[in-house]
Amino acid sequence: MRKLEEVLEDWEAVIGLEIHAELTTLDTKMFCGCKLEFGAEPNTHTCPVCLGMPGALPVPNRAAIESIVLAGLATNCDIEKHSMFYRKTYMYPDMSKNYQTTQGPVAFCMRGHLDLDVDGAAAKERIDLDGLDVGESRGNVTRTETGYTAHVGITRIHMEEDAGKMVHIGGGEGRIAGATHSLVDYNRAGTPLTELVTEPDLRTPEEARLFMQKLRQIYLALGISDCSMEEGSMRCDGNVSLRRRGAKEFGVKTELKNMNSFKNLHDGLAYEICRQAEVLEEGGQIFQETRHWDPSAKRTIVMRVKETADDYRLFPDPDLAPYDLTDEWIDSVRAKLPELPDQKAARFEDAFGLSAYDARHLVEHRATADFFEACMELAGADAAKLAKPVANLVINDVTAYLNAHEGVQLADTPLTPARALALVRLTAEDAISSKQAKEVFAAVLDEDKDPAAIVEERGMKQVSDTGAIEAVVDAVLAANPDKVAQYQGGKTGLIGFFVGQCMKEMRGQGNPKLINELLAKKLG
Ligand code: ADP
Ligand code: ZN
Ligand code: MG
Repeated sequence: MRKLEEVLEDWEAVIGLEIHAELTTLDTKMFCGCKLEFGAEPNTHTCPVCLGMPGALPVPNRAAIESIVLAGLATNCDIEKHSMFYRKTYMYPDMSKNYQTTQGPVAFCMRGHLDLDVDGAAAKERIDLDGLDVGESRGNVTRTETGYTAHVGITRIHMEEDAGKMVHIGGGEGRIAGATHSLVDYNRAGTPLTELVTEPDLRTPEEARLFMQKLRQIYLALGISDCSMEEGSMRCDGNVSLRRRGAKEFGVKTELKNMNSFKNLHDGLAYEICRQAEVLEEGGQIFQETRHWDPSAKRTIVMRVKETADDYRLFPDPDLAPYDLTDEWIDSVRAKLPELPDQKAARFEDAFGLSAYDARHLVEHRATADFFEACMELAGADAAKLAKPVANLVINDVTAYLNAHEGVQLADTPLTPARALALVRLTAEDAISSKQAKEVFAAVLDEDKDPAAIVEERGMKQVSDTGAIEAVVDAVLAANPDKVAQYQGGKTGLIGFFVGQCMKEMRGQGNPKLINELLAKKLG
């Protein structure tokens, strides 16, 4: 199979996502009073309604509708004041009702969008932006200083309910294949579930990943779900098709399941794009089917061929009256919207003079955004001056540390905002070099001590005394007359050698900026 970047030269990928999020922060299920609790004893949270017993009557959970309206408002959707619940035929043991209650053509939230900022390596998958200047648009894309912005349409967000869970016994890895019997746990059945459907506006696996990440940040900010991809409270199906570059018509799509991490979402789509290209280039045909991404085998396998909407026999639920929302109620929900990640990033740019890039990366995680803000609060009058170095520390060092220590929460580490700020101040005041700052950063986390104490203990003071540095520079130049002659003869690369010698003389404590300046002056 060819590599993704080669395939994308000839083919344009068209991607649409369907993203489910369980409203895990609510107390009760969608149509009954059963408690929502992840990991409870099996079948301890069930009742006649969520089991679908005859005569049981469902009542919609108002808090769940408030949550989905929050989600719609935060993603620029129109909120539909009149909508209905439907029954969708669903014949599988994990839902004993034999239908799923969902919404029909009109969902609570319709016609939204999110704008994705794509930059760095992620922007490289988009190869069709040649000749586009900063600020110029083509299709749904606008060129920015650091990459581009993609405008992604959201078709709808509708309210539905989750199914229970099957546990297959006796097969490999809990799979149904080879199992001798299966158990079913209905605790999850009836959990309020939102489904967001995007327009087919995404063009690269990176855009799909970024969309999912951005939506997750928004839902977390709204507090409507814990959005755990591992535990399945946020799940993503990816629809993907190919068309020849320049073609208008969409190709036949396949739908990928089991993309339960950002990496799987990206890699599954990338694989599927390459697979489809190979089939099409060999003269074959893509069938509309659902495929399962197997990350360990690195391939997708067919699960089932597509059912059509008619097969589901969607019809209005006779037990649930049409739902009416008033303007006053929608406004009261709007008033509860918290600051969203994009707004927070804009505020960071304004208040602290950060670049759009820095601000955006700071707000990627609630923990790092809060940490940065706490540092700025402590910085007081120096906030604007220290914002950039604090942002660098958070975006680079802190993020790298957290990535390397999976499962560790920033708040549980010895790195407090006060210590981070103290470290940044030491560097900003030239008390330690940036190289020494890395060492102090690691030591704060390892030894749970203040930066000043570490600097003191290790005798790390940076020497910024010009007289002392000048003496060392003079001595180094005097000891290496041949190298000085070579430098002056044009081998300017030797500057590194001289800096190194001076640093060695000063046991790494010389201010590199001053050393460089003095060397440049003396070498002419
Ligand atoms: P289905 O009838 O298979 O459910 P929908 O039209 O409801 O298809 O779309 C489901 C998802 O697939 C949406 O996210 C949509 O944007 C996306 N989609 C639709 N057509 C295509 C296509 N040709 N290629 C890629 N994605 C598509
Ligand atoms: Zn129940
Ligand atoms: Mg559909």
